[in-house]
Amino acid sequence: MIFTHDTEAGLAFVAALADTAPGASDSGDDELGDPAQLARLLDTWKYSGRRDGDERELAEVRDARTRLRGLWLLERDDAAAAVNDLLAEARALPRLVRHDDIDWHIHATEPDAPLSRRILVEAAMAFVDVIRYDRMDRLRECDAEDCEGIFVDLSKNASRRFCSTRCGNRMAVRAYRARTA
Ligand SMILES: [Zn+2]
Ligand SMILES: [Zn+2]
Repeated sequence: MIFTHDTEAGLAFVAALADTAPGASDSGDDELGDPAQLARLLDTWKYSGRRDGDERELAEVRDARTRLRGLWLLERDDAAAAVNDLLAEARALPRLVRHDDIDWHIHATEPDAPLSRRILVEAAMAFVDVIRYDRMDRLRECDAEDCEGIFVDLSKNASRRFCSTRCGNRMAVRAYRARTA
């Protein structure tokens, strides 16, 4: 394990959120096209707290998605500044909580704060760890030239190149064809 469990979960959620965007998603479409798709994503990730389920919330989450993808690709010093801005803007107040079957971990927003704010702050808290551990290099963009997917590389030797096995297989086929052409 490179980071703490909740940091790794937070980063994996950011990647999953970012990879719903067209250009990164499996379908090639925007997979946050309606509130039902957002609800499915949140259910999959067991995301707790307030959900409005309306178009406004969806639009705010899509904005957060764009912002977090940008943050993912920043250099470390720029990422630190961006994380500080985000935490200040949201008036984040970190505290230890224990709920459901999850042991002590950090929340920095109230559960009834708007979803997009909670997503941004939770991501920012994960970035705090990444920056302190000096591991921004683990926040990667997919090597497939036709994919804008992002992923967190938790492999031992930092060797992961693709956001998904789908991209890995597609690029392997392409490389094989190029070799045998
Ligand atoms: Zn929690
Ligand atoms: Zn990819």
